[in-house]
Amino acid sequence: DDVANKIAAGEVVERPFNVVKELVENSLDAGATKIEIELIDGGLSLIKVVDNGLGIDEEDLPLTVQRFATSKITKYEDIFSINSFGFRGEALSAISSVSDFSIKSKGNELRVSFGNIISISPAAYTNGTIVTVKNLFEKVPARHKFLKSPTSEYKEILKYIKHIALLNYNVSFKVINNGKVALNLINDNNLLDRVKKIIGEDYSFIELNFENKVKISGVVTTPDVQKFRKDSILIGVNNRAIKDNLIQQAILQAYHRKLPENRYPIAVLNIEISPDQIDVNVHPAKLFIRFYNSNLLFKDVYKAVESCLKNYDL
Ligand code: ADP
Ligand code: MG
Repeated sequence: DDVANKIAAGEVVERPFNVVKELVENSLDAGATKIEIELIDGGLSLIKVVDNGLGIDEEDLPLTVQRFATSKITKYEDIFSINSFGFRGEALSAISSVSDFSIKSKGNELRVSFGNIISISPAAYTNGTIVTVKNLFEKVPARHKFLKSPTSEYKEILKYIKHIALLNYNVSFKVINNGKVALNLINDNNLLDRVKKIIGEDYSFIELNFENKVKISGVVTTPDVQKFRKDSILIGVNNRAIKDNLIQQAILQAYHRKLPENRYPIAVLNIEISPDQIDVNVHPAKLFIRFYNSNLLFKDVYKAVESCLKNYDL
């Protein structure tokens, strides 16, 4: 079982970035409005996530690292109507099997070292939850050698935090790397305010709101101020960061001929879709999800962007 856990762990968690993603999603699932991410060496030496979410009761603490234990579904049918993004109960089990792991909540701390439960003991009382991950993959050489430099791990994490912070503009996010504050976002009242903080003031954005079978909201840049930017299309589904080529294509097609070649729009789109219309279970790290009706979604995204660009014909 320990071996199975470590193999599965490699699928869910490949890099510090995946750890941060799982921990931040757990914090959001717990209703946190304030999330602090502390890193040392881009997460290679330390990842600490502190939230003000609903916390974990003492008796539930050991369950958090048990494989397939989740508080988010209680019966099989719930899989089809899950609202939170994590539900398979795999992440903490995986992470704690490949690191020196600690989870603290409500005055208790559970410590696990590379899959072995070390202790459950009293700790300073905190309202939310504090998860600490040290020495990731140190005892898993096959994984350890694939890790990149602290700088590239850090960049990947920061990119993700910006992405998720755009999709959850009402949540405060703080990132500290090697003791330096890299990002400090106090909760915003609307997406545009957060977009300005993260993407910059020197772009003009059009707000987008569309409702059909799905609800699409977000912002896109006007076609006249484009600068080429890599990774400039940020997509979310039910406020979780995902990557999706089809949605990206729908956005680009809606800009068709409005943009000079090799120029890309900046876009932040969140798609609110009924959980029974998606399968978040196709990719262990949940970076990609499956849409049951991708044709319709493509059309909806296209229409949403096209209609808000209509007034900006060049
Ligand atoms: P999943 O998110 O799929 O349920 P995880 O392994 O990520 O599985 O987490 C296991 C369980 O631990 C969650 O179902 C939740 O009950 C609890 N948990 C994890 N992180 C937090 C947190 N930050 N706040 C509250 N509960 C948490
Ligand atoms: Mg989770």
